[in-house]
Amino acid sequence: MPANDPHSRFMGQWDTYHAFNWGKLEVVRKHGLAGILLVQGGPSRGTKPIPPSSPRASGGPIIALQGQMWDLPIFTVTRAAADQLLAPSGKTTDQLQAQIDATGDPASFVVPNSTACMSKAFTDTSTHNDRNVVALLPGSDPTLSAQTVIVTAHHDHMGTVNGHIYHGADDNASGTAGVMEIATAFVQGHVHPRRSVLFMVYAAEERGLVGSYYYVNHPLRPLATTVATLNMDMIGRNENDTNWPTPADGNINMVNVLGTRYNPALGAIVARENQFEGLKLDQKMDVVDPDSLWSRSDQYWYAGLHIPQVLFQTGLQPDYHTENDIAATLNYPKMTKIARLVFLSAAAVANSSQKILFYPAGAPAAPARP
Ligand SMILES: [Zn+2]
Repeated sequence: MPANDPHSRFMGQWDTYHAFNWGKLEVVRKHGLAGILLVQGGPSRGTKPIPPSSPRASGGPIIALQGQMWDLPIFTVTRAAADQLLAPSGKTTDQLQAQIDATGDPASFVVPNSTACMSKAFTDTSTHNDRNVVALLPGSDPTLSAQTVIVTAHHDHMGTVNGHIYHGADDNASGTAGVMEIATAFVQGHVHPRRSVLFMVYAAEERGLVGSYYYVNHPLRPLATTVATLNMDMIGRNENDTNWPTPADGNINMVNVLGTRYNPALGAIVARENQFEGLKLDQKMDVVDPDSLWSRSDQYWYAGLHIPQVLFQTGLQPDYHTENDIAATLNYPKMTKIARLVFLSAAAVANSSQKILFYPAGAPAAPARP
């Protein structure tokens, strides 16, 4: 299995963006499919299931873009059920998977005499209007100004849950403040980057990355000339997470930097600019990501488009997605440093004469998972 092969073309044993269902669904949705059956029961990667990011005890709310996002019937089926459907073809899921693993090519075919009836019904639906908020700083270079660097955060949180206000100071007022401060620094500091910089705070991240999904499907600047996106989602706390052994007081100056495994050149720019801020940059979640945090914020869609991307995030802590995520708990000196680092990195990318590569072809195999 590629999952256990350190020399796999999918970056060795690391989980890559190909591994997440959202990306798979998006690929097949664009091919105009009528419905999707996801076959479960593959090899375990030893990661724990993703905890839900919003309360869904009542089965809702689940929000998607009207008529655009996952409006297909999608069901998961066991391997046994899939094999039953495949039976008239004489093939099994194991054989097909082995064939695809060996060739790296899709193995599409029509299954004769087999039908699956799927239907999906929406109940208690309501329509909400929401807004991504954007501002553009045009680049100063006559040629490079056509290219765009995007600096982002999400501005939504969870609202009121069972009568309790969820303030979302860390998640994600912190990142939203970061975007506003960085935009202010460019303008008031009279920084005139060669490439254009788009500042954007997304709506409805907590409902499934909806605002960023909307943007990448309705871009204001061509995605083909979007050179990178730098995203901040929770940059205000000290990590205190049972997955990682360091206690919170050991994380006072630490920020997780996620996603640069796909674009090491962007990671190198961040590391270089950090000489001015002296933060402890932690890339642990590029190697082990038990909560799949990289796939759970807005820069995720850009990876599927092969646009270099990075997420800055100070980690989980017990107040995450509770009413206790309040302003008094934030580490403001660290937030300031992170916003400055993102500003310096964005400016460096916007001024660089080199194009940052995404997941460079021919890159050496990633090291094995520890
Ligand atoms: Zn968030």
